[in-house]
Amino acid sequence: MTSRQTDERAGVVAVDVRTDTGAAALPAPDSSPPRRRVLFTPGPVMMHDYTLHEGGRLIDYHRTTDFSSQMLQCERRLKRLCDAGPDDRIVMLTASGTAAMEAVVLNLFNPRERMVAVNSGEFGGRFVEIARLHGHELAEITLKPGRQIRPGDLEQCRTAGCVGFLLNHHETSTGSLLDLDLVSRFCRERGLLLVVDAIGSFLADPLSMTRQGIDALIFSTQKGLALPPGMSFVALSERAIQRVSAATPRSYYLDLRRHLTDMQRGQTPFTPAIGIVRQLEVRLDRILEHEPAAIVTATRRLAENFREQLGGLPLRIFPECPSNAVTALAPTDDRTPDYYVRILASDYDLCVCPNGGKLKDQIFRVGHLGDLTFAENARLVRALREIAAR
Ligand SMILES: *Cc1c(COP(=O)(O)O)cnc(C)c1O
Repeated sequence: MTSRQTDERAGVVAVDVRTDTGAAALPAPDSSPPRRRVLFTPGPVMMHDYTLHEGGRLIDYHRTTDFSSQMLQCERRLKRLCDAGPDDRIVMLTASGTAAMEAVVLNLFNPRERMVAVNSGEFGGRFVEIARLHGHELAEITLKPGRQIRPGDLEQCRTAGCVGFLLNHHETSTGSLLDLDLVSRFCRERGLLLVVDAIGSFLADPLSMTRQGIDALIFSTQKGLALPPGMSFVALSERAIQRVSAATPRSYYLDLRRHLTDMQRGQTPFTPAIGIVRQLEVRLDRILEHEPAAIVTATRRLAENFREQLGGLPLRIFPECPSNAVTALAPTDDRTPDYYVRILASDYDLCVCPNGGKLKDQIFRVGHLGDLTFAENARLVRALREIAAR
């Protein structure tokens, strides 16, 4: 990390250490100054020094064997993180997560094919809108915000003629983690293609393509991977690859057939976000110094550590079953969510996330993804206590 980045992130006035005579003024190597501004947002999230550093390097030309092997290495490692089968493949799109959601609808399904979709909130609703826009009929399961999906919701669902199931694993707008095992069993029984938007849960909550029979798993760079926004990924099962290969293209940029073909040699049809690919590589190096499950455990510990400290605060955890990635909090006193969000930002330089839409006046969200620490959790909780005591 450069000293300039240290200074900016720590919010201290830049000191030119070369002219500073007092060696005591230099921080010891292991006592980096506390960061001033901290993002507790669902994404983008706090990035690590090593990925920030990588982001400052020259962008190289990419139609080379070196870059191809980097891409293939990233694919192998991402497959490990998805617990994908040997013949599953990953396509890499230079576009935010929503494009990957749309790409899956356009490439896995034929026009007018019916599917089940769970409208769990803003992101579940987005899947519904994408599918409808492209002419698909839906058996829609609408959940009250924050509510878990139950067997009864599935039993009542009219699945006749449906070929697929669209689920947002973590409905990030409410912090609710939906029961993927339940949906997975349902899809297996009925032979439905299972599409999972795991953008909000990837690396935060346990999931397995193989064990849960996921046909298309969607994730992106700016959430659990803690990279800049700009790339998204679709991991495809063998069955999904066959569907993609047989489908008539409905989009030029998002034609996954071309992506699959080019990815066989580690390339993409169009210029990828080369800089993000390199940051992805260094990030995956670090993540896979440990078993894939370790990063999920670390995120869970951060979330639990935060939630354990909420006792006595006028804040209620909103969803029935919270994801490790986000804690959605509903104030139980007469303060509005917006009040907490505003004061945390203006007086404490702590960035939590307000909600839009119907939940605007009910909840705000605290993220646990990215380069966060227990000490930063404690700082946030102290700030919340001070605000609640005002
Ligand atoms: C963040 C997120 C998305 C994608 O949003 P983009 O802004 O397109 O990256 C989609 N689904 C879920 C569940 C998310 O959390």
